[in-house]
Amino acid sequence: MTHNAMLREFFLGFIKIHILHHAGEEPVYGLALIAELRRHGYELSPGTLYPVLHQLEKAGYLRRLNRVVGGKVRKYYLLTGRGGEALGDARAKIVELVGEILEPVVREGRSRSGRSRQQPRGSEPHRSHKRTPER
Ligand SMILES: [Zn+2]
Repeated sequence: MTHNAMLREFFLGFIKIHILHHAGEEPVYGLALIAELRRHGYELSPGTLYPVLHQLEKAGYLRRLNRVVGGKVRKYYLLTGRGGEALGDARAKIVELVGEILEPVVREGRSRSGRSRQQPRGSEPHRSHKRTPER
């Protein structure tokens, strides 16, 4: 497997968890998700995102909701109870993983600053989401 293919595979898992997270906050749709994921540094085409959404829907993690916006049907996705369970499991694993892989960084920061408390990187609160304009 090439380096890029390997990274794509890693990130696809992150992306799926990310989608579940946002679909749990409010109904989400494709183009808004693409913009949101771009904000986080993931470049996704609709051709990559839509199969992922269908896969999550098929697994029973997302429920589709058709809404008419500007005279057109737009497919929104909402987190289901089952999706919430999967997200909860993933969250516990993420906490575990982040704790472990950031531990050396936190330790080094502590010894460098001499302070006993150190904020882990990336702990600042989630910024509000920019929405793409309606099309
Ligand atoms: Zn986000």
